[in-house]
Amino acid sequence: MESAIRYSRLARYAPLGQLLPLWQRSHCVVIGLGGLGSGLAMQLARFGVARLTLIDRDTVGFENLGHQSLFTTAHAEAALPKVQAAAQVLAAVNPAVGLDPQCADLSRHNIEQLCAGATLLFDGLDSYYTRYIVNDHALRSATPWLSAGVVRGELSVRAVLPAVTGCLRCLLPEPPPPGSVPTCSAEGVFGPLLSVANAIQLEQAGRILGGTLTRSEDALYSLCLPDWNIRRLPLSGPLADCPACSGRYEFLDGSRDAEASAACSEGRFELELGTALDIDALAARLSAEPGWELRPNRWCLVAQHAAERYTIFPAGKLVLSGGDSARLHAFVAEWLGS
Ligand SMILES: [Zn+2]
Repeated sequence: MESAIRYSRLARYAPLGQLLPLWQRSHCVVIGLGGLGSGLAMQLARFGVARLTLIDRDTVGFENLGHQSLFTTAHAEAALPKVQAAAQVLAAVNPAVGLDPQCADLSRHNIEQLCAGATLLFDGLDSYYTRYIVNDHALRSATPWLSAGVVRGELSVRAVLPAVTGCLRCLLPEPPPPGSVPTCSAEGVFGPLLSVANAIQLEQAGRILGGTLTRSEDALYSLCLPDWNIRRLPLSGPLADCPACSGRYEFLDGSRDAEASAACSEGRFELELGTALDIDALAARLSAEPGWELRPNRWCLVAQHAAERYTIFPAGKLVLSGGDSARLHAFVAEWLGS
């Protein structure tokens, strides 16, 4: 009864109502919980999807609060991993959804395991390189994915249905060089536009679930403010010379690894120490030194010193933003004795 009422307004809109049973049997994976991923996860929870996997490597920062609708000031103050903050909010929104928060850096090594069993993949990524990994995985595993990008006042959305539509590499054979494309962190975003991109992603996903997305509907949707015309660029399905559509998954097989570290670092450096860390003891020692601002929580310790932000996980992983790899190694040598 409660369930019928909960979904009644969605169900009465016939094009969505017919698909709700399919949505509610689906396993959706949202990759990246930024502005796009936040909105997607919220809508998917309200649709009542059976299972919702959330993948993101970051903690909530104050810079996220202007445009990432899942997160609150308390999440930023506590520097919670985004996936844990999101899971708290989404469990309160709809307890029927099976939530699967994964605080992880998506790579070619873990994508198969993290996305196993997905009905649909949704991309809320800001890294072009990682999108190529998702693209290859989607094609290899024959999983549909809904790719989108929003920056400044511009959006683009493409539904990739393997063997029916073309893919990211059909449109853009190679990832743009790092630093050559605008990013939200550098150029900002008109936050409300994220919801428009989400609406297109979810509408296209519904067509895929319902089996009505055909090759003749393969298209790239885009919009650029202040002109509010949504442009629909017709595309023509998989290209014969596309490596990914021809079964060569270069972003999964290791042949592109040389580019991966440069493309994925984006001013962020990671170390896996391979040993467990006592983050409470580390917090106690850092708090005795001047200049450290500490935000400990159940899942990690965020330690800020001037522009350098260290995120330390008990499993032995460290991430530094705002520094370089030499500073990260110096931190390990000074504070973790190795
Ligand atoms: Zn292709």
